[in-house]
Amino acid sequence: MPGPELKAPIGIFGGTFAPIHNGHLRLAIELREQLGLERVLVLPAGSPPHRAAPSVPTARRVEWTRLAVCSEPGLEIDTRETARGGPSYSYDSVAALRRELGADRPLCLLLGDDAANQFHTWHRWREMLDLAHLIFVERPYEPPSPSPDLVALLRGRRVSDAKALAQAAHGCWMACSIPPLAISSTRIRRLLAAGRSIRGLVPDAVADSLSVADIDALSRDEDPAYD
Ligand code: ATP
Repeated sequence: MPGPELKAPIGIFGGTFAPIHNGHLRLAIELREQLGLERVLVLPAGSPPHRAAPSVPTARRVEWTRLAVCSEPGLEIDTRETARGGPSYSYDSVAALRRELGADRPLCLLLGDDAANQFHTWHRWREMLDLAHLIFVERPYEPPSPSPDLVALLRGRRVSDAKALAQAAHGCWMACSIPPLAISSTRIRRLLAAGRSIRGLVPDAVADSLSVADIDALSRDEDPAYD
C-alpha cells in the first residue's frame, strides 16, 4: 500500500503484567518515540495459553497496568483480552484492532526477545504479518533465537527505519534496541516473596497500591530462594 494516505502507526504491546514494571513501561515509551507511534495500546493478557495463570486476580493486573500507563501521554490500556474471558490469543486481539482501526493504519506488534523466541508457538502466528508489523526488542539476558520457521517467514521483509514501517499497514519486521533494564516480573515476585523492596523496579503508583493480599498472591508463584 503506498505511503502518503496511511494514518500514523499504532503500537500494540501485550503481556501478563504480573505485575507491570519499569522494563515494560520503558519499552512502550522508547518504542513510541523511536518509531513515531501515535500511541501504544497496552494489553494485559487474559488467561495466557502458554503458561500457568498467575495466582494474582486479573482485576489487579489490570489495575496496575492502568496505574502505570495513566500518566504517560501516548500510552493507553486496552482491556479487551481480560474482558473477553477464555484463552487469550494475541491474534484475535490484533485482528479485532485491525477491523476497528481500518486497513489504512500501520499496526506494530511490540515483542521483547523472549516473546519473539516463542512466537512460532503462538496461535495463528504465521498470519500475524497479514495484520501487523512485528517489532523485536532486545531484552537483557534473552539473546534472540528465532525458530527456523520464523526466520523463513521473515525473509525479505526486514525494514531498518520508522519511515519504511509507516509506508505499509502490515507485513514488515524491524529489530530495535532500547537502553537495557534487567527487570522481570519474576524477579519482582521473588523479591516480594523474600519480603524485600521492589521500589524503583515498578512505578511508585503500583508499589503503593500493593495490598497484603496482592503480595501473598504474587509471592505464591515464586520461591524466594531463587532470587
Ligand atoms: P515474567 O517474569 O512473569 O515472565 P516478564 O517480566 O517477562 O514476566 P511479561 O508480562 O511476560 O513480563 O512480558 C510482556 C512483554 O514485555 C514481553 O514481550 C517481554 O519480552 C517484554 N519485556 C518484559 N520485561 C522486559 C524488559 N526488561 N526489557 C525488554 N522487554 C521486556
